[in-house]
Amino acid sequence: MDKKVVLITGGSRGIGKAIALTLGKSDYHVIINYRSREDEAVKVLEEIIAGGGSGSIYQSDISNYNETEKMMTDIIKEYGGIDVLVNNAGITKDQLMLRMSEEDFSSVIDINLKGAFNCVKHVTRSMFKKRSGCIINISSVIGLVGNAGQVNYAASKAGIIGMTKALAKEYAARNIRVNAIAPGFIDTEMTDVLSEEIKEDILDKIPLHTLGRPEDIANMVNFLASDQAKYITGQVIAVDGGMTM
Ligand code: NAP
Repeated sequence: MDKKVVLITGGSRGIGKAIALTLGKSDYHVIINYRSREDEAVKVLEEIIAGGGSGSIYQSDISNYNETEKMMTDIIKEYGGIDVLVNNAGITKDQLMLRMSEEDFSSVIDINLKGAFNCVKHVTRSMFKKRSGCIINISSVIGLVGNAGQVNYAASKAGIIGMTKALAKEYAARNIRVNAIAPGFIDTEMTDVLSEEIKEDILDKIPLHTLGRPEDIANMVNFLASDQAKYITGQVIAVDGGMTM
C-alpha cells in the first residue's frame, strides 16, 4: 500500500465521518470502523471514492476485546500496518448520579475508554516494528471540566486523557506520537438529542457563540496526523470555541 493507512473507529457518522472524508481527501487509505449502521459506513466510503480517494469499511464492536483483536489483525495483515489510529467511537448515557445504573456506567466506560485500550493494544506491536505511528484519541471538554449528569462520560473522557499522556511517554522512544483532542459541543446526532433550552445554555458558555462543526475536529486530526505536527506528542488540544480557556 503506497498510501498511509488510517483507521477511524466510529467513522460512519458525526465527527468520525468528517474525519474519514477529510483524510480521504488528504491521500490516506481510510478504514471506517462502525458497530451497527453499515448503510452509513457504506455511504461514507462511497463519498470518499467519488472524491478520488480510497478506503474500506470494517464492522466491529470496539468494546469487545476479541472482536477488536480480529479487526486489527485482519487490517494489519491486509494493508501491512496502520499508520494512524483515530480512537473516535463513543457514546453517552446521561443520568444524574442518583439514578445512574451500573450498566449506564459500565457501557460508557467499556466503549469510550476500554474501546480505545483495545485498539491501541492490538496495533502496538505493528507500530513498534515499523518504529512509526500516530494515535489520536477523541476526548471531550467534559473530561476536562466535568458536567452534571455525565459522571460516566466525564470519567471515560478524563481516562482517555490520562491514557494519552501515559502512552505518549511510553511510545515516544519508538517514534509514535499520541495526542488527544477535546472537542467542545459539536453539531452531531450525539448533541441533536439536547433540548433547545440546554443548547441555548451551552451557547452562552461558548465565547465564539456557536456549536462546532464535525469538520473543525477533522481539520485538527488532519494536522496532528501530518508531519507538520511531528514535534507534538502527549498534548490535549481543545477545539471548543474558547469554552475551556
Ligand atoms: P455520533 O454521531 O453518535 O457517532 C458515534 C459513532 O461511534 C458512530 O459511528 C457509531 O457507529 C460509533 N460507535 C458507537 N459505539 C461503538 C462501538 N461499540 N464500536 C464501534 N463503533 C461504535 O457521535 P459523535 O458526536 O460523532 O462523537 C464522536 C466522538 O467525539 C465520541 O467519542 C464523542 O464522545 C466525542 N465528542 C463528541 C462531542 C459532540 O459534541 N458531538 C463533543 C466532545 C466529544 P454505529 O452508528 O455503527 O453504531
